[in-house]
Amino acid sequence: GHSSRTPQVLIMGLDSSGKTTLLTQVLTGHTMDTSPTIGFNVGTLDLDKKNSLTLWDIGGQKTLRKNWKYYMDDVKALVFVVDSTDKERLPEAAEALKRVLSEEKVKGVPLMVLANKKDLPNSMTIREISNQLNLTVLEDRLWQIQACSGQRGLGLNQAFTSVNKMIK
Ligand code: GDP
Repeated sequence: GHSSRTPQVLIMGLDSSGKTTLLTQVLTGHTMDTSPTIGFNVGTLDLDKKNSLTLWDIGGQKTLRKNWKYYMDDVKALVFVVDSTDKERLPEAAEALKRVLSEEKVKGVPLMVLANKKDLPNSMTIREISNQLNLTVLEDRLWQIQACSGQRGLGLNQAFTSVNKMIK
């Protein structure tokens, strides 16, 4: 089972949104314990001496999304990664997120949306993404959205520090 000491954080999002890149980047330079396995990657991020998060990156392909709920026991925060350059798939991302948030197991669990790939010139604004994902009408949980680049390592420390604060 999961370690009960470290908060479990689930990283979800469509395939190609950049979850694996982001997890690998965020664990670089920190104590890490990654085990790439079929279906998911997991690693522990040490924010400081007292605070760690166990991050689960689970597969985002359509056929795998039905498995997301099996990772939801004990989850303290949800991270939903969006490719902010992929306008075409934003409705699909919105639908996937809606389904996640409707799961009883994650009722009230805080949500961090990461608008990834902000290093690219054609990335959408935070406002546009928030609107399309219907974040602005969420009332039953804490949520935040932050732009980041998993590839360049931009915005990730802030994002996971915020995630940790949202859990408290
Ligand atoms: P996953 O399917 O969600 O795990 O996505 P991957 O981590 O495999 O990334 C999908 C593609 O997007 C790869 O080609 C990555 O190199 C690219 N990618 C991921 N993050 C970024 C980013 O922040 N900026 C740019 N420019 N490309 C990214």
